[in-house]
Amino acid sequence: MKKTTGQDRAITARWRPATQMVRGGTARSNYGETSEAIFLSSGFCYDNAEEAAARFRGEAKGMTYSRLQNPTVEMLEERLALLEGAEACRVSASGMAAMTGMLMSTLSAGDHLIGGRAAFGSCRVLVDNILPRFGIETTTVDARDAQAFAKAMRPNTRAVFLETPANPTLDIVDLRAVADIAHNGGALVMVDNAFASPIVQRPLELGADIVAYSATKLMDGQGRVLAGAVLGPEEWMEKSYLAFTRHTGPILSAFNAWVVLKSLETLELRVTRACENALKVARFLSQRVPGTLYPGLESHPQHALAMSQMRAGGTIIALHLEGGRAEAHGLLDALQLIDISNNVGDSRTLMTHPASTTHASMSVEAREEMGIVEGTLRLSVGLEDADDLIDDLDQALRAIGL
Ligand SMILES: *Cc1c(COP(=O)(O)O)cnc(C)c1O
Repeated sequence: MKKTTGQDRAITARWRPATQMVRGGTARSNYGETSEAIFLSSGFCYDNAEEAAARFRGEAKGMTYSRLQNPTVEMLEERLALLEGAEACRVSASGMAAMTGMLMSTLSAGDHLIGGRAAFGSCRVLVDNILPRFGIETTTVDARDAQAFAKAMRPNTRAVFLETPANPTLDIVDLRAVADIAHNGGALVMVDNAFASPIVQRPLELGADIVAYSATKLMDGQGRVLAGAVLGPEEWMEKSYLAFTRHTGPILSAFNAWVVLKSLETLELRVTRACENALKVARFLSQRVPGTLYPGLESHPQHALAMSQMRAGGTIIALHLEGGRAEAHGLLDALQLIDISNNVGDSRTLMTHPASTTHASMSVEAREEMGIVEGTLRLSVGLEDADDLIDDLDQALRAIGL
């Protein structure tokens, strides 16, 4: 049977991204299947006792137990590592499992973490409430201002953790500047890149040390499974991340890994089209709603910085309606095509009201500090025809008198 070359980095690292997305990481079984197989097996067998011992010593390659390795999961990890240009990747059961593993494996009691203020709701809970319970000091800063990181650095700062564009306000962080500040103080830069995907932004090339994803979003992108991923240097992965997650077990099932693996084959096509749609929709909205924010529009206050880090404006638009919650809920209820849903990065266009859903557990002051007001809406643009999306938004805006 002809061998696949998908697991041979010496070959796959030279492939162009489109080829990596289709063939990177593929390992064929002796049946010669075209599409990658799903290995739904918790354990693995050995030819003899010494083989088992050698694998446990880490001297022989091979599977031992699916909390530690699984062939389908490894194919996904290899494909993602290629896509990101990272030495190593590990996937996890959800984006939050990835974020938690990344932070808990690196930080210990007495360490300090700086987090970006505008962030996914659960990431803020992790930084504000969960890490401090374990003796980890945390500070959140306005991440639009790189100097805010410099001011917050302490001798025990081990890491900075940020999103760009940030959820849901689309704040942009100057990755090169923040990386210089963090590295001068001996801290690692950890970036939640879920809103951009590796198609739009590659933080490792801009100075980040570790990149984490909710693969639930653009990577699956069809609203089916939850998944997460962490990418970074081999040494950190082995000594920090795996030392923690091998024994705490936040792993991705082989089935869900397979769904995401297959989705990656179309990632570039989907993300490119969704970004084109988002730009068209943002152009339309900006004529009708003064508070339209989209990194790809010149009216975004950090447009130039966004375009120096991102290959496109992304797939998310934020709207600030002046009429508060009533007007925001009114717009959602008037939509006929676009769904009300708090997910993002889906092939369907989805809209949500963060103050009453994703960020409802935060205080009003904390929300306002990060830029979410009662009239804020988040629109995740999908793969429908942009003109149908514009027609729906047009009729919904008219229905509420805008
Ligand atoms: C969705 C999301 C997460 C959490 O991912 P899950 O897969 O839902 O656990 C983290 N960060 C960002 C920016 C997200 O959009």
